[in-house]
Amino acid sequence: MTRLLSPILADYGPGMVAFWCPGCDSSHPLRVGPEGHGAAWGYNGDPVRPTFTPSVLIRSGHHVPGEEGKRCWCDYNRDQVERGKEPAHFTCGICHSFVTDGRIQFLSDCTHSLAGQTVDLPEWPR
Ligand SMILES: [Zn+2]
Ligand SMILES: [Zn+2]
Repeated sequence: MTRLLSPILADYGPGMVAFWCPGCDSSHPLRVGPEGHGAAWGYNGDPVRPTFTPSVLIRSGHHVPGEEGKRCWCDYNRDQVERGKEPAHFTCGICHSFVTDGRIQFLSDCTHSLAGQTVDLPEWPR
């Protein structure tokens, strides 16, 4: 059971929060504190209208530097489909965004369908 700080922001333990990304349809955890103990993002402390700085860049699968050419979700999902099975929910991708005042601006280098769009952060799925 996820503990929520607001409808859109989850408490992921000490110094960690997470928002639900509507582009990836998954959570993006961020280390926001405590100050001076490895905080990777600045956070305005408002779980209803969160702002994180700098931008959030998530790479997965073959988009991770050093993982190019290795076996990735693309291969796994292709194998599953060839065997007549359901592909995994996971895909290789890039998600690059700015979260400001509870809205998420996706930059054009995202590999998902919301690239270039700005939308409200969605409520955490139940
Ligand atoms: Zn995302
Ligand atoms: Zn891949």
